[in-house]
Amino acid sequence: MSAFQVIQHSFRFDCRQCGNCCTGDQQVWLTPDDLRRMALFLRYAHTRLLFENHYVKWGRGEHGARRPIMRFKSLKKFRFCPFLINDLEEDGTPKGLCRLHPYHKPLICRLAPVGRVWHADSERSEWLFVKPAPDCPGVESPVLQELATWTAPVKHSLSEEEHYLRQLNQLIARGAPDKAYEKLCLFAVTSEPD
Ligand code: SF4
Ligand code: SF4
Repeated sequence: MSAFQVIQHSFRFDCRQCGNCCTGDQQVWLTPDDLRRMALFLRYAHTRLLFENHYVKWGRGEHGARRPIMRFKSLKKFRFCPFLINDLEEDGTPKGLCRLHPYHKPLICRLAPVGRVWHADSERSEWLFVKPAPDCPGVESPVLQELATWTAPVKHSLSEEEHYLRQLNQLIARGAPDKAYEKLCLFAVTSEPD
């Protein structure tokens, strides 16, 4: 059973742009589509450069699958995403903005606080409310958001993710080596995002 609340049609949330979810122990798992968008933003001709220039590293996902993850920077004890911009509101309150917003931002960040669990056997999605950070002020908002409206702008990326998850499941089932997982994420980048 999931520890998160299932979203049927709507949820209450309003992002305050505090940037807390872009710091600390957050883990930003990436899809090949995310890598393509980030490479386009940085004008890289190949996703390999994201790894070589320390924006992305390899992590271990479910069943030990080798998957790309954002490489957070560290400054003393402070960890933060390399695409986070710190700024101040007019009243001096700190705020955090994303350099990749909106078109080049990873799917997991564009969907937050909505998390998608994709069930490979039934090819169906389950939508969960996942608090973006332990101290996220957006979850206290009374603003009602419709799930269909929230996910509509990322429809293409969601279907790209499904394609990736299908490929991952096939590799896991046949006990493929790390190189096979890496191959899904290393490619030349030629087109603009949708
Ligand atoms: S922690 Fe919550 S309110 Fe702050 S930027 Fe992230 S989603 Fe928005
Ligand atoms: S990509 Fe943007 S939204 Fe996602 S963690 Fe980094 S700064 Fe935050």
